[in-house]
Formats: sequence, structure tokens, C-alpha cells
Amino acid sequence: MVVPHKGENLVWFAGAYSGSVSFSHDSKVSVHQVKEKDVSKIAGDYVRRHAMGMGLGAAEDARKALWSAMFAILHGNPGKLLLVSGKSPGWSWIKATHGGKTTVLNVAVTKTQSVDVSFRFLRHKDTGGKMVPDTIWSPDDAARWVGELNWIYGPQANISFDLWDAEWVPLNQAPNQPISRQVFLKDIAGQKPAGPDVTVFLVGQWGGGASGHSSGTFFDDEDVAVVDDRPSHPEITDPIDKFQVTLAHELAHYLRKERGFAGHHDRPNVLLSSGIQSLRLDKQLVMDMNPP
Ligand SMILES: [Zn+2]
Repeated sequence: MVVPHKGENLVWFAGAYSGSVSFSHDSKVSVHQVKEKDVSKIAGDYVRRHAMGMGLGAAEDARKALWSAMFAILHGNPGKLLLVSGKSPGWSWIKATHGGKTTVLNVAVTKTQSVDVSFRFLRHKDTGGKMVPDTIWSPDDAARWVGELNWIYGPQANISFDLWDAEWVPLNQAPNQPISRQVFLKDIAGQKPAGPDVTVFLVGQWGGGASGHSSGTFFDDEDVAVVDDRPSHPEITDPIDKFQVTLAHELAHYLRKERGFAGHHDRPNVLLSSGIQSLRLDKQLVMDMNPP
């Protein structure tokens, strides 16, 4: 698990812990066994730290879901719920001993990595001189996306995205849809702002992707990504939002590139997989992006 340096995360030790369990750990973490009276405060703190950017409604849904998950663990399921605080960065561990059996959990205490992200939305001048959007999205959507990215990347990797800015970018005439790689690189990508770490373009339909990952592309020489308005990922099941997966995927390319890694992996149900993806980051992916 990943615990932010000077922050907290939750872990559930599952198993038939009917009797007493003893926990030990080194000095890089502190560990608090969650009791029923703590649940409301912990859920509230967790959501304030990671989920507020999604908007009040979504944050409240996240708080309720977390609250009931914690409550269910304490009541219905055998096991122990621990609140782990990161005291100093590096690899740490927690050992749980029950009935002579010991389980070890590796814990990465990581510093926060901050990423400034910009969004650019394509529009063009029609024959009457009026500006017409090419994408169904607009700069108003960017803050919510950044909130969703923080809900994905904060608890799992201690990576925090900041919205640098979100603006329209113009073309002088209507482009052919879907947007080709050639048109994107010639007329659009150069309109990225100076300053942020990475810029994501919304252009309508994206036609420049490689097969298998056609709904978005990250250009590592430019630190620029493109995401299709309505990514098609028939292999990804509901309720995972395919746009969120695609946006998180392209930014994972950016984060891994910063550490010298390229391409995809083949671990199923993990973000950036060449097979079926989800919003889950596994240990290897976290180590590729924000090692302790
Ligand atoms: Zn990819």
C-alpha cells in the first residue's frame, strides 16, 4: 500500500481474526486500529483530502460509500481496519500476527508528487465567422476532471494534479473529423501553453491513435495528450467511466515517462494495461510513477 508522507491511508487486514491480533511496524509509519466511533471522522477527513475536487455531490457520495464500507468491515467482515500514517519516506512494513500466523504488508511512504495540467478545447471559425466547438466538452469541465484524477491518483500513488488552466484553441476553418495525427501535430498541438507539465487536448473525435489504444494518445516529445470525446473501450465494463480511464491512462504515460519508462504493461485490470484496464494502480505502476 501507499501512504503519503505526513498523511494517512486505510488498509483492511482481512481474515478470520476472531481472537486477538497483534500488529508491529517500524518507525516510518504509525498505525491506529479503527474503531466504530472513529469512522465518521476518518471518512470525512479522507474525502476532504482526496475527493473535494470532484464537486460537492460526488464528494458526498464518496464519503457515504467510504463510511459504509468501513462500517461493513467493522461489523460484518472478519478482519481489522487500520489507519496508517506516514512519518518518514521510504519502504516500511506492517506485520499482523494471529494464532501463530504472521502476515506482512509492505508499505511505501511517499512524498507528494505534484503535476500541473492544462486542458485545451478545439473550436473553429465557420464560414460566417462564428466560433463553433469541435468537442462536446468545454473549459468548465476541466476542474471536475482534475478532481477525479486526484481521487484516482491521490490515495493510490500520492500524486496530486493541479489545474494550470483550461482554454479554447481556434482553427481558422472546420477540420475533418476524426482529427488525424498529421493535422493534430501541424495545427493543434503547437497551441499548448508554456508553463504546465502536461497539456491534454479535446478535439472531438481522435483518429490518430494506435490500434488497441485508439481513444487517446500521449506524445512524449511534446508532453501533450489527446483524448477522444467518447472513448470506445468495449472491454471495460460499467460502472468504470471510459473517459476517466482514458484520461488517467494518457497521464500515466506522462508520469512514467518522467521516470524513463515507456509503453504499456500486460497486467490485467490495472491502469495502462494492454489488456483489460481499470482505474486501479498496482504496486509496480506506483513504483514506476512515484517511488518512495
Ligand atoms: Zn497508452
